Amino acid sequence: MGYGFTQNEFEADVIVVNTCAVREHAEMRVLGNVGALNHTKKAKPEQIIAVCGCMVQQEHMTEKIKKSYPIVDLVFGPHELWRFPELLLDVMTRHKRVFATARDDGAVTEGIPLRRDGKVKAWLSIMYGCNNFCTYCIVPYVRGRERSRLPEDILAEARQLVAAGYKDITLLGQNVNSYGKDLDSETDFADLIRMVNDIPGDFLIRFMTSHPKDATEKLFRTMAECEKCAHQLHLPVQAGNDRILKAMNRHYDREKYLTQVQLARQYMPDLVLTTDIIVGFPGETEEEFEETISLCEEVRFDAMFTFIYSKRVGTPAASMPDPFTREEKQKHFDRLTEVANRISGEKHAAYIGTHQRVLIDGETGRDEYNLSARTNGGRLVHLKGEAELIGQFRNVVITGGNTWALYGEVE
Ligand code: SAH
Ligand code: SF4
Repeated sequence: MGYGFTQNEFEADVIVVNTCAVREHAEMRVLGNVGALNHTKKAKPEQIIAVCGCMVQQEHMTEKIKKSYPIVDLVFGPHELWRFPELLLDVMTRHKRVFATARDDGAVTEGIPLRRDGKVKAWLSIMYGCNNFCTYCIVPYVRGRERSRLPEDILAEARQLVAAGYKDITLLGQNVNSYGKDLDSETDFADLIRMVNDIPGDFLIRFMTSHPKDATEKLFRTMAECEKCAHQLHLPVQAGNDRILKAMNRHYDREKYLTQVQLARQYMPDLVLTTDIIVGFPGETEEEFEETISLCEEVRFDAMFTFIYSKRVGTPAASMPDPFTREEKQKHFDRLTEVANRISGEKHAAYIGTHQRVLIDGETGRDEYNLSARTNGGRLVHLKGEAELIGQFRNVVITGGNTWALYGEVE
């Protein structure tokens, strides 16, 4: 439509605020940011303000914007993304507010133009939506049912990425392990990895997220056998106690999770394993929380993404009794963070003196250690070197490490 980009919100003709609905904190920040646009709109009354994404796919949020944020001209949910130019034209020509957030199970839209940030790493969606209905989670309500892109469409995009010089491709889905179950084709996720692996070129394949309930031995074997597949697995466990896992509707127990970790490590002894954990799920007791701690000590994750439970309107967990205070949950969260940080620090210390093949992916903006890189397993490495190295695989020796990162020298 002839638009360009600006970082200056007072100059913009159109402002698009993209949103997430997974936790309340992000939603509050969105509302704060949208409220702040009152100033820009006052200075430039013809400015069009759009809010899109999962947050506005929730009815109560659309209502809130309708009533309390009159500066917003256009609201559209994830299912309407492909209609953005049409909706924008509607606002421009009809001079009225447009709300496009109909309830929908979603479709797969191909051929939408993509603008990627960066030239080294790329995200590649292989499926949309989620069928799992974990009781705390809003995603299935705002993203619709699981639908897979056709293997040939994914492969065509992957080939384009490799031809354009991308070196690190992350296959994306809420639960990549159920890839293809909704298609007529026989291709499952492990087969898809193999097909991407067969594309000629020097690049890495990563993926997320893998749901433990259907991660298979075939997947681990495929990861081990495909030379381009990173030995990196993000396997969210959420909690270490069986009663909580059941109340979360996760469809696995502690035992099954631990068995899977063991199996994955048998196939890939150098596997980098990360996870997500929710602290303070409604009714989680001290003893139950202790089982999350003991699971983390047992597995020793390379990194953990930890969250305090956030109540989501319309999910089953939102109506479960939740007797524990925010302070109690915060205490548990702090303890878990300490354990996670200690283990990450110890894991990183063990890299010191080793040689790693890394992909140099960007600049840090700092003088000493001006480059950032990732190991095959996805751990962050800070290096010193020329900017020309960006986009190259190099061997480095690891000289230092802390909780957050490794430090190294190009060999
Ligand atoms: N599909 C992925 C996760 C998507 S959401 C999976 O199943 O693993 C990313 C993470 O956010 C989840 O793994 C969970 O740990 C966290 N999360 C989701 N809903 C949450 C909520 N209501 N409160 C706190 N954390 C939540
Ligand atoms: Fe949410 Fe569970 Fe689906 Fe992940 S698998 S998106 S946590 S419902």
